[in-house]
Amino acid sequence: MSQKSNPKAHPEANYRLPQVEQLLQQDFLSPFIKSLSRPVVTMVIRDYFTQIRQSESFKHAGVDGLDITQALSSRLHGVLLQRQTAVINATGTIIHTNLGRSPIDPALWDAVKAVNTGYNNLELKLEDGKRGQRKGLLDTLLCALTGAEAGLLVNNNACSIYLLLHALAKGKEVIVSRGEQIQIGGGFRIPDILALSGAKLVEVGTTNITTADDYIEAITDNTAMVLIVHQSNFVIRGFTESADIKELSRRLPKEVILAVDQGSGVTNEPHFPEEKSVIKYIASGADLVCFSGDKILGGPQAGIICGDASLVQRLEKNPMMRAFRPGRVVLSLIEELLVRKLNEQESGRGISERQVAQLSSTLNKADRLTQLFPNHIEICPLKAVVGGGTLPDIDYDCWGVILAGDPLKLSRELRLASTPIIGVIQRDKFILNLASVTDSDFELLILQLEDYLYLKEGFIDGHCRGEQVRTVV
Ligand SMILES: *Cc1c(COP(=O)(O)O)cnc(C)c1O
Repeated sequence: MSQKSNPKAHPEANYRLPQVEQLLQQDFLSPFIKSLSRPVVTMVIRDYFTQIRQSESFKHAGVDGLDITQALSSRLHGVLLQRQTAVINATGTIIHTNLGRSPIDPALWDAVKAVNTGYNNLELKLEDGKRGQRKGLLDTLLCALTGAEAGLLVNNNACSIYLLLHALAKGKEVIVSRGEQIQIGGGFRIPDILALSGAKLVEVGTTNITTADDYIEAITDNTAMVLIVHQSNFVIRGFTESADIKELSRRLPKEVILAVDQGSGVTNEPHFPEEKSVIKYIASGADLVCFSGDKILGGPQAGIICGDASLVQRLEKNPMMRAFRPGRVVLSLIEELLVRKLNEQESGRGISERQVAQLSSTLNKADRLTQLFPNHIEICPLKAVVGGGTLPDIDYDCWGVILAGDPLKLSRELRLASTPIIGVIQRDKFILNLASVTDSDFELLILQLEDYLYLKEGFIDGHCRGEQVRTVV
């Protein structure tokens, strides 16, 4: 806005904002350009300038009194907070859906680097040079792990369920227990997905009791499938009964498919014997079992379907498969993970298995924190859960610490640390639960707490030891 066109303008005021190009050369912007890109930083500057020009104070007094550097830094920090960044999970929920579910073991990540950074044989059969399927060794590995004949990889387990309903039961009836008409996470309801797939829901039993007879009696000429949905994020206690899979499998007519949404992906882990495993479902006669790749298995986001080879083949041939197939990054990670899991290597164990195996170390860790920060931190016994819609009835004893101070303030300020620390507020106290903190994150946690508790000023100005630009604004 020029001075002339502004009737309120003060004759001595400075109405010239810095030139954007010149501003972009300034040092304080270079870390933001590095993390956000030059065009995004330029956009933020332009938006800010537009807003300034429209403000009353600018019309009266121009740029006087404006701290442009401070205001821009603060805005850019806000934008930077939207970027994906590593965080420390001190919630006590090991597979936390808001925190990316399963961290991938660095050894696994490194192992698939070459196959992803160059060309690979994703859809080429090396033996005869013909076009191959996008499966790698998946069938064989899943067969070795679960006893199933064949397997299939899709983008997530919601895809698995949709695909098996759409490809095998469209226009036909699918029998589901009333106790299993569940919602999993945000907006994913079994009845809705069933309707979308084109299958027709037939409800049987009651919320707490569904027997094999209930299923058998509901079968008509139009029944395509019985779908058993594992109750992964809640438990019904007391007088309950669900149909025995072996009995159901034995009594179902041959043409009715017995499909199980197992969900969590428990297979042979020693720590979770309470959960009915994929292996058990297959052994009991389920035709297809599906589960997530990023829950107990500990891989990237994926859905895995395994079971009868001819049914898996029908799923593969469905046109929707084209939309649901993951890329080679996911395929190679799952492949590598399964090999390591079968070889019982540490890096083949999922995060939940690894963390649950070392829960006793949380006491030492909590002790160490109280020794390092005696005036700020107090040890406390806590409970951990696996989380992510798995093992809903089980919690584990563990240790953590209570931080002295206003819980909301602590929660906010630590969330804005250079590597954000995500704790929990329980009974009006801010708590770091160490069950979900990995060994390498624990060392980082100490460094950040040192900065936060002892050099608070420096921390707030963004000079803490983390690598990224991240301050409390
Ligand atoms: C987690 C879960 C899902 C959804 O899986 P995503 O991989 O998140 O799509 C579906 N069914 C059950 C039983 C689950 O536990």
